[in-house]
Amino acid sequence: RSDKIEEKFNEVLLDKELDKEIQVIRTGCFGLCEAGPIVIVYPEGAFYSHIKIEDVPEIVEEHLLKGRIVKSKLFKESFDNEKIKSVNEVDFYKKQKRLALKNCGVINPEDITEYIAMDGYLALGKALTEMTPQDVIEVIKDSGLRGRGGGGFSSGLKWQFTANAEGDEKYILCNADEGDPGAFMDRSILEGDPHAVIEAMALAGYAIGAKQGYVYVRAEYPIAVDRLQIAIDQARSKGLLGKNIFGTDFEFDMEIRLGAGAFVCGEETALIASIEGERGMPRPKPPFPANKGLWGKPTLINNVETYANVPLIILKGAEWFRSIGTEKSPGTKVFALGGKINNTGLVEIPMGTSLKEVIYDIGGGIPEGKAFKAVQTGGPSGGCLTSDFIDTPIDFDSLTALGSMMGSGGMIVMDEDNCMVDIARFFLDFTVEESCGKCPPCRIGTKRMLEILEKITEGNGEPEDLDRLERLAENIKTSALCGLGQTAPNPVLSTLKYFRDEYEAHVHEKR
Ligand code: SF4
Repeated sequence: RSDKIEEKFNEVLLDKELDKEIQVIRTGCFGLCEAGPIVIVYPEGAFYSHIKIEDVPEIVEEHLLKGRIVKSKLFKESFDNEKIKSVNEVDFYKKQKRLALKNCGVINPEDITEYIAMDGYLALGKALTEMTPQDVIEVIKDSGLRGRGGGGFSSGLKWQFTANAEGDEKYILCNADEGDPGAFMDRSILEGDPHAVIEAMALAGYAIGAKQGYVYVRAEYPIAVDRLQIAIDQARSKGLLGKNIFGTDFEFDMEIRLGAGAFVCGEETALIASIEGERGMPRPKPPFPANKGLWGKPTLINNVETYANVPLIILKGAEWFRSIGTEKSPGTKVFALGGKINNTGLVEIPMGTSLKEVIYDIGGGIPEGKAFKAVQTGGPSGGCLTSDFIDTPIDFDSLTALGSMMGSGGMIVMDEDNCMVDIARFFLDFTVEESCGKCPPCRIGTKRMLEILEKITEGNGEPEDLDRLERLAENIKTSALCGLGQTAPNPVLSTLKYFRDEYEAHVHEKR
């Protein structure tokens, strides 16, 4: 629909002879999915929501020609006391801090000059002309940046290990195989700001001594793939990829590799196997990719959001980055907010923001005045947290301590009507489907767990089934080969812990 709205604006502006004065720029996602399609008119920052093609002539006639805001089409929160609020004053954005998403919804991602105008490629220029590779690694280490793909491992240490690894050929990989149900953080960054990822990968190449990078992205993300390819081509044509970048002897180039939608290919060794042309199955670690990765060579692999933070850190420094977020989890985190919540969409918050602020201040609370019941963080690998934990600050360690996890950033809100046993069954069903089958604990164990859950939800469960579920879950966690299997029982374990009464009710309602 946005295509048609853009076409209509161009048509009406041409008709009114305004096409030279006013530019229609198509951007990436601005985060507030619930209010889309969105049109923002600058310089006022008037934030029009739920736009239809038939609204376009009125906005041009009233706003652009007569300078009168079309109040009926303004986003419900963006007009107050006869004054248009800037985007940052709107409740949905007020508590957000956009670093990884800073250009999403702001620039045209298909025009490299717009990225450059936002200080794009300045960090790469600074690194190549003023810093040694080790200086770059030190800044990333000092910043405390932790992997945003779910693991939360220190990015700087990973860069250091790969730099230290023996090998004349090294690789940079970007994991854009985002597969959690309901998650679309990486997709939005690639669609809205692909050059940030390209610049970061080139910086990483300089830091660890690699000349070649690959972005492994799901084929189900065609817009992200197209825009990334356009961005790579434009960066090459401007001499920002290839040989003698910024007139130095640094050389770096990159290509896209398409994934075929297997969730397990988000696991780094399975992703590497897939790029190599093998079946996407995890390999035992060690050896870690830093020592023996793509084609057996030292390989640095980070996810899209982690890379999107890198140019800003190099440009503004480690101290600046550490001033945002918490001591052990500096910076921000992007979440895809969904489920039973008024403002569904993409949010980026400083680490340490509470779940309550995300759900009520940013998310606008639960629809139809229903009661909040739980929030699932970390997707199928995560866990559910109850209202008792609503004041929990969101950071890597707090969520893990409660039996959930940050994961890559899916956040699904549930209200009083949701059955938590059903929720656990849904996520387990997903992991059973996505198990690659290489190791028995995951291939067989998760299937057995699902059978027990189905028995319970169908009203045929027995009290002993809850203990069976727990025993199986603990065994799978400790014996599965990769993260998929090791974390698959989490939704069951966390719902058993916090909502055991619901399981018991199912069992005692036995037909
Ligand atoms: Fe495959 Fe599951 Fe074993 Fe991972 S844990 S290797 S996904 S079977």
